Amino acid sequence: MHDADCIFCKIIAGQIPSRKVYEDEEIFAFHDIHPSAPVHFLMVPKVHLPSLVQAQPAQAALLGRMLLLAPQLAQEQGCAPYPEGGCRLMINTGTQGGQEVDHLHVHVLAGPRP
Ligand code: AMP
Ligand code: ZN
Repeated sequence: MHDADCIFCKIIAGQIPSRKVYEDEEIFAFHDIHPSAPVHFLMVPKVHLPSLVQAQPAQAALLGRMLLLAPQLAQEQGCAPYPEGGCRLMINTGTQGGQEVDHLHVHVLAGPRP
């Protein structure tokens, strides 16, 4: 459920400060500390899952809820509406997939591209 050595578990528990975007009983979202777009936040399940690979069929609804929530939160954070605006979702998975933090997270990026 919770990994004592995981930075995102510590953020969820409030042990490490973050700029919170959203929270419910299953999901936590917070601004990325090194944003690579005008809007850039991370959505994480509160349960510690190292990556998408460990997600189970029982978590399908949770993953679906995260996907449905992402564009809503992006718009609340200043993303222009679809289709002119829109957002990009990214789930880095594994070392070669560019994953640096081993707690499943969805990057949500939006805003004008440079
Ligand atoms: P990834 O490469 O997909 O594992 O992305 C990890 C992301 O977590 C990076 O974009 C980091 O900037 C971000 N990150 C790392 N530590 C923190 C933190 N304490 N608060 C917010 N974002 C963080
Ligand atoms: Zn964790």
